Amino acid sequence: RRKWLKMVKVLEELEESCDTTVFRLKQVVDAMAVEMHAGLASEGGSKLKMLLTYVDKLPKGSEEGTYYALDLGGTNFRVLRVHLGDQRSAILGQDIERQPIPQHLMTSTSEDLFDFIASSLKDFIEKEGNDLEQTSPRRRELGFTFSFPVKQSSVSSGILMKWTKGFAIEDMIGRDVSECLQLALSRKGLDVRVAALINDTVGTLALGHYNDEDTVAAVIIGTGTNACYLERADAIIKCQGLLTTSGSMVVNMEWGNFWSSHLPRTSYDIDLDVASPNPNDQGFEKMISGMYLGDIVRRVLLRMSKQSDDFGPSSSKLAIPFVLRTPLMAAMHEDDSPDLSEVAKILEEVLELPDVPVKVRKLVVKVCDVITRRAARLAAAGIVGILKKIGRDGSGGIASGKFRSNRPSRMRRTVVAIEGGLYTSYTTFREYLNEAMAEILGEEVSPYIVLRVMEDGSGTGAALVAAANSHPE
Ligand code: ADP
Repeated sequence: RRKWLKMVKVLEELEESCDTTVFRLKQVVDAMAVEMHAGLASEGGSKLKMLLTYVDKLPKGSEEGTYYALDLGGTNFRVLRVHLGDQRSAILGQDIERQPIPQHLMTSTSEDLFDFIASSLKDFIEKEGNDLEQTSPRRRELGFTFSFPVKQSSVSSGILMKWTKGFAIEDMIGRDVSECLQLALSRKGLDVRVAALINDTVGTLALGHYNDEDTVAAVIIGTGTNACYLERADAIIKCQGLLTTSGSMVVNMEWGNFWSSHLPRTSYDIDLDVASPNPNDQGFEKMISGMYLGDIVRRVLLRMSKQSDDFGPSSSKLAIPFVLRTPLMAAMHEDDSPDLSEVAKILEEVLELPDVPVKVRKLVVKVCDVITRRAARLAAAGIVGILKKIGRDGSGGIASGKFRSNRPSRMRRTVVAIEGGLYTSYTTFREYLNEAMAEILGEEVSPYIVLRVMEDGSGTGAALVAAANSHPE
């Protein structure tokens, strides 16, 4: 009994330290907006890098023609062809081929990696047959989604700052990514122009804007998390005199690295950070994204297991980092069987914890709930932070005088494109995020803010940005 109470105490302390009241979330909103300002004011002015993308023309829906895209940035690599129609926002057809990146290429040389990419594109184009050939005599144009931190020098060029996600090809760092690709394409004899170099959030924003011109920001919550949004060029102070055709530019926030003392941090977060290959980096991401949530839960369960033998033998796998992947944690969280048999199965099969009593299984579900709820609510606060920065959160106030009315008259419909497995596949996460958005924005403003899922946005969006920046010959 004493042991049981100790386990409950671990849960209670967790709940307390993961607290995300609306008051606290609003502090995070403000901190996000402040850091965005700081990151735009000067290079290195904030943990938010606020990278320029040079994307100043988002697709409007009137683009036409056939464009290609390559999408590299996670475990899978994709080649796409997108046919754009002459009717508004009509993607007439799309072909996608996915393949895993062979492990050895992730740590070999840039030539090996880009030769592999170019060969995949060549095979893909060769399968097209001749009919398409005749209808598209002009040179092919391609958008490249490359989801690693890049310092852009134009919409179609930029140098790699560092690798993430298990890639480590030393000779690539500091080199122009498009040029590496363009050289590899020439080696294969392909006449294809790299018309755009973007990251996945920009692709998601582009597809969002193509479908709906009220789209001003995009967020990805998958293995990692990041966001981008459309900023006024004159607000990008660190780049004085920036010339853009539209007066605005997409800024890649790299928001995974956001940090604020208002974030509800626990000892589990600190331990996870210390044990990670990038301590003190990506603090926001480590509380939110799919790469980490399962492991935070594992750390809490490990602490609980040390309080009580109800958790089975200490020989369990609970001490092994990252054994509990986030989709399995989600499966436990969403187990709706009366005796939590799915929880029991995962505890036994994945963590080697057999015969865990039902009341302890309930504690496990609760731990998953606390960690997921915190993550979803913090992501919501981040999104509202962006809206606040661009004056779309309703805090600009209700117009006074004769324009006074019951609704905030300056409010405009605002769409945020969203993508990533955590949001699209983890129902409870999605519900918590949506709920927190409404709580933070309040019932007057929240109907104006729409979160819209953009499936395959990262790849399709690159083809769209290429189309918007195409130079037909
Ligand atoms: P990536 O971010 O790797 O490019 P995705 O956007 O598809 O790809 O996100 C995949 C991530 O989403 C996985 O690493 C996992 O953490 C999370 N995820 C996928 N499916 C689920 C699920 N059913 N429940 C919880 N998390 C999931």
